[in-house]
Amino acid sequence: MTIGRPAAAVVVAGGVGSRAGPGGPKQWRTLAGRPVARWSLQALADAGCAPIVLVARAEDHVVAAEAAVGLPVVLAEAGSERADSVRAGLAALVEAAPERVLIHDAARPFLSAKIISDVLAALDEADAAAPALPVSDTLKRADAALLVQGTEPRDGLFRVQTPQGFRWSALRDGYARLTGDAPTDDLAVVERTGGRVQLIPGDSMLTKLTHPEDFAMAERLAAARWTTRVGLGVDAHRFGPGDGVWLCGVKIPSELALIGHSDADAGLHALTDAVLGALSEGDIGDHFPPSDPQWRGAASDQFLAHAVAMVAARGGRLANVDVTIVSETPRIKPHRQAMRERLAAITGLPLDAVSVKATTTERMGFTGREEGLLAQAVATVELPSL
Ligand code: MG
Repeated sequence: MTIGRPAAAVVVAGGVGSRAGPGGPKQWRTLAGRPVARWSLQALADAGCAPIVLVARAEDHVVAAEAAVGLPVVLAEAGSERADSVRAGLAALVEAAPERVLIHDAARPFLSAKIISDVLAALDEADAAAPALPVSDTLKRADAALLVQGTEPRDGLFRVQTPQGFRWSALRDGYARLTGDAPTDDLAVVERTGGRVQLIPGDSMLTKLTHPEDFAMAERLAAARWTTRVGLGVDAHRFGPGDGVWLCGVKIPSELALIGHSDADAGLHALTDAVLGALSEGDIGDHFPPSDPQWRGAASDQFLAHAVAMVAARGGRLANVDVTIVSETPRIKPHRQAMRERLAAITGLPLDAVSVKATTTERMGFTGREEGLLAQAVATVELPSL
């Protein structure tokens, strides 16, 4: 889902997070291996928002830059109040003068493409819009000793979330005219100017991480946001005379070679097909046609690197790979560790997530007659299911 007409975004990450307990400001803590702020920055970038301004305290700019690496993000310096931070974010957008801008709290990591799209769509009719949930709990008024003084009507009351979306001119003018107490959200800035402010159905997943127990819940939710996919690959090549056999990116000295259009590295070919299979992206021949002369004698590591890059382009990650070589010759075992290290280097996986195994067919069939060898591979890929 993309957003159509251009929109910029400001992600406010200036808090010190004292309520969330030890471990530093919550927006830089990791959630399922990624900084909390990264979750929303990625969602905004994936939706096509640009530029994205990340507003952080000056002393947090190194971790902020790490959280934003590879995304169209510029940093701005947070102020002492939230409104000052938003002003700093808007100042960084003056030159871009976007038609629409989203303002989002970094501490709300589970930002969906649908919410981004719905908020922006509401700006066709409104000056400002935000997701909100109706208040469902009973509201009590109590004194300082928590003695109940009465029950408040909850009809017509909503809990407002972020991202809050604005027509750029409405928000800019609202902040320019802002006087008195700083509001606790940005919709109020437009409300005070008499602008039209629209609520849209909110998302219970957009909860703000505030207290230490919120992180345990968020970790469970984050885990549920990944879909695990498995792919299988098989490849065989025939032996011919040569000076070595390429397998899993390692050249094994031999008086044989594998015959094929590229370097005929059946291990890398099977693994490339496994990764492509996990993505349902066809097979190696679709991406690197044997009829194309540029792949003649080519080193096959680039095929696997291409498939791994396709995983990254989908926002996913490779979890583990397992390759089995079926052959009588050459002997695989002495080279197995070098193969694992080479596959780890190509895929970016840690060594303990890379397996290479070897077996024979007890002298049966084409591998048993040493006419060629066979490789099988499986790859596990995790894709975001946002
Ligand atoms: Mg092949």
